[in-house]
Amino acid sequence: MNKMKDIPQDVYDIIIVGGGPAACTAGIYGARGRMNTLMVESMSIMGQATMTDMVENYPGVDQVGGFELVASYKKQAEKFGLNSSYGTVNRISKTMVDDLPLWEVEDESGVKKALSVIVTTGAKPKKVGVPGEDEFLGKGVSYCATCDGAFFKEKNIVVVGGGDTAVEEALYLTRFGKKVSIVHRRDRFRAAKLLQERIFANDKMDFVWNSVVEEISGADKVEKVVLKNITTDEKSELACDGVFVFVGWEPNTGFLKDTIDLDEHDCIIVDAAMKTSQGGIFAAGDCCNKVFHQIVTACGDGATAAYSAQQYVEELKGVAYK
Ligand code: NAP
Repeated sequence: MNKMKDIPQDVYDIIIVGGGPAACTAGIYGARGRMNTLMVESMSIMGQATMTDMVENYPGVDQVGGFELVASYKKQAEKFGLNSSYGTVNRISKTMVDDLPLWEVEDESGVKKALSVIVTTGAKPKKVGVPGEDEFLGKGVSYCATCDGAFFKEKNIVVVGGGDTAVEEALYLTRFGKKVSIVHRRDRFRAAKLLQERIFANDKMDFVWNSVVEEISGADKVEKVVLKNITTDEKSELACDGVFVFVGWEPNTGFLKDTIDLDEHDCIIVDAAMKTSQGGIFAAGDCCNKVFHQIVTACGDGATAAYSAQQYVEELKGVAYK
C-alpha cells in the first residue's frame, strides 16, 4: 500500500446524487466499503420505482410496493453507515485543492465536496405534447397512477402509451375507474407479454389502436380527448374524466450538460464500469444510456458504480491495493 494522502475533513469519499434503487445500492456498497458516503436525495423529483404500485419481477421478492421497496433499500444502506440528506442538486463541478481534484456538489442548502460522485438522477415522465396537457395538469391529467388513481373512482379514464408502464398502470387504474381506455399509436403493445395477457383479460379495459391523442379539453377539468386514427386520419372524441400519460421517460440530466458527455437522448454515456467521461464521476440507473430500464438493472449499476468509485478514491488517497 502507498502512503495515505491528506484529505480535508469536510470532503466525502463519495456523494451519491439521487435516492432510487441505483442510489441506495451504491450507498449499501459504498458504506460497506467504509467509504464516507453521502446520498443527496431530491424531495421534489419522484422516482420511477417509487411511483410504481406493485413490483413483482425483483428476484426473491414475490410482490412489493415500489415505495416500500425503495424505503427498505435506504434503511438497509443507512444501517451500514450511509449518510443521507435532502436536496435537488443543480451543479457538479471540479475544483483543485493543491493537487487534489475535488467535486463540488451544489443544492439549495449549499455546496458539499467529494472525491467522487455517483449520479443516479433517474428520469422524469415524458409529455405527449398536445394542447390541454399542461393546462389540465392536476385537473384530470396525471403521470402517476399510484398518486392520483383514487381520484377517479367510477370515472372514465384514458391511458396513453403502450409500454410496460402504460399497461401496468392501466391495469392498476381498473381498480378505480368505471372504464379504462388505452390509446396506443400502434396495433400492438411493447409491454411484457404477461402484462398483455392480464390487460386483455380485464373486462374494464377498452383498446383504441393506431391512434394518438391530439387534444385534451374541458371547461375547468378534463372532459374529453380528441383522437386521430393514424392509419385513416379519422378524428373522433372520447369523453373522459382523467388522462394518464405513460409515453416513456427522459433523463434528469439537464444540469450536467456542461460537465459530462451525454448521448443524443441526454442520457449519461457510461462504460461497463459505470465511468463517465469525467474521471471521478460515475453514473447508474435510468439516467444512463442503457438498453433495459429495470429496478434490478439499476441496482446492478449502483453496485458497479460504487465499486468503481471506491477504486478511484483509494487510488487518489494512495491506499489502493496494487
Ligand atoms: P417505453 O417502453 O419507452 O414505452 C413508451 C410507450 O409510449 C411506447 O409504447 C411508445 O409507442 C409510446 N409513445 C412514446 N411516445 C409517444 C407519443 N409521443 N405519443 C404516443 N405514444 C407514445 O416506456 P415505459 O413503458 O415507461 O418503460 C420504460 C422502461 O421501464 C422500459 O425499459 C420498461 O421495460 C421499464 N419498465 C418496466 C416495468 C416492469 O418491469 N414491470 C414497469 C414499468 C417500466 P411505441 O411502442 O410505438 O414506441
